[in-house]
Amino acid sequence: MFTSIKETASRQNLVLPRFAKLAAQPPQCLLIEGGSAQDRLDMARYWACVLNCENGQDPCGSCQSCQQIADNAFNDFIMIDREENDSGTLKQDISVDSIRELLPVWGQPPNGGGTRVTVVVEAQHLNGNSANALLKTLEEPRPGNVFVLTAPQRERLLETLVSRSWVITLAWPTAIQNTSEVAEWVSGMLEFWRSGQGWFVRTSAKGALDKEMGLKVVIGCQRELKNALINPRSTRAADALSGLFDSKGLRRLDLVLGKAQESLNYNVNPALVLDWVCTAAMPKKRR
Ligand SMILES: [Zn+2]
Repeated sequence: MFTSIKETASRQNLVLPRFAKLAAQPPQCLLIEGGSAQDRLDMARYWACVLNCENGQDPCGSCQSCQQIADNAFNDFIMIDREENDSGTLKQDISVDSIRELLPVWGQPPNGGGTRVTVVVEAQHLNGNSANALLKTLEEPRPGNVFVLTAPQRERLLETLVSRSWVITLAWPTAIQNTSEVAEWVSGMLEFWRSGQGWFVRTSAKGALDKEMGLKVVIGCQRELKNALINPRSTRAADALSGLFDSKGLRRLDLVLGKAQESLNYNVNPALVLDWVCTAAMPKKRR
């Protein structure tokens, strides 16, 4: 629906003049970072509307093109996303096939009188093969086609993709803070990952952790991990996390926290679970 695009555009109004300016000579590839995933997708649609609105470059939201773009029904608007597993969850990677199968489409001029816009949704999920296939595509002239990559931060994409893109940075979302009690536990973990010390006295203190608190700490840690991925400068813990872990380490931490949450729900002893989180996620350089 166009309402979501309109709301996001008015919240992200600082970047609107840049879209208007770029429309005169659209770059082949635009990278939209910052904001939330929904904000990025909305702004990708906004960009498609700017390039295809029947009533000028300030998208009207009411012409056929604008409405179809908002409703995924515009035949010059393509989204590349991760496919779903049988269980309905999204796969880890954007497959190389989802790029390859579009090669014949990009070889043709757009169907309508505007510009075909292909959006790679959350392009940090491209794997080596699909990223390379996309790069090859971007290296060839594709008249009438433009591409949009969305990602939380440009650092999460291959440098070669970023260097081919015009970057637009949306306003960063405000970080959600942990309560002081949870923050205290999380900072204990950070201290352990930094120094290898100080953790086990916390969990061995009698009655320090019940299942509920254990879950709060795991979720609190996940929250800081999310903050670290969106904007490491947003909280102290997020900043510390991104200093301690490389992107592979953060991904492992994410998996470890997911398993910990599951174990707590199965009533495994909370102190044991958190001890395991601390040792299993330990940054590599410390080992
Ligand atoms: Zn319109």
